[in-house]
Amino acid sequence: MSHEEDRARMVKNLQRSGYVKSKEVAEAMTAVPRHVFVPRRARGNAYADRPLPIGEGQTISAPHMVAMMLEKLDLMEGLKVLEIGGGSGYHAALAAYMVGEEGLVVSIERIGALAERAREVLKETRLEQRVVMVVGDGSLGWEKKAPYDRIFITCASPQIPPPLMDQLKDGGKLLIPLGSLHLQTLVLALKKGNKIKKKSYGGCMFVPLIGEYGFS
Ligand code: SAH
Repeated sequence: MSHEEDRARMVKNLQRSGYVKSKEVAEAMTAVPRHVFVPRRARGNAYADRPLPIGEGQTISAPHMVAMMLEKLDLMEGLKVLEIGGGSGYHAALAAYMVGEEGLVVSIERIGALAERAREVLKETRLEQRVVMVVGDGSLGWEKKAPYDRIFITCASPQIPPPLMDQLKDGGKLLIPLGSLHLQTLVLALKKGNKIKKKSYGGCMFVPLIGEYGFS
């Protein structure tokens, strides 16, 4: 079966199981190839619903987790989005697809080699103009393009890093796996004035956020 057919089947399965709900997320996951973001030896499994190694001891999340996060983020054209944990660039590419030509995704990755590879793959998918891949400690955010409409963290954190809340727009949404090294809860935080409303969406497991406001 071709990658396109595998991808279409993956999206159908995610719709059936309720992880993909909106037309927008379905379109993005159908359009953006996951296989080009994973190392060659893992490509045969690129459309299976499981996490995959991307090198440097890091992993790309399973498609159902990526879909769930995209749905909760409620992305739309023109939004400015910050991702912490750029990894392979796959999640950033999907977000970039959804925010369209007028939108922007800033993605911060701690490991230079991963960021470099992600930049190359993003070029292949022609989404590189909408994605700024930065190397650094994402727990500090990225002041240069702040404030952001949406912020999502694709690694586990013991707390919501305060700089990220500061860099979120009023009315903005932040999505983060909060908890210990081995188990987290996916939490959506809504910022309204000086209030933060939080909703929890069940257990998940991510690699750790390593940095000033993450794990040391
Ligand atoms: N979203 C990625 C998957 C990320 S895995 C994808 O679609 O492929 C989590 C990533 O977070 C890893 O690559 C890890 O190196 C990175 N990371 C960990 N701590 C970080 C920090 N403080 N700042 C930025 N990236 C960090």
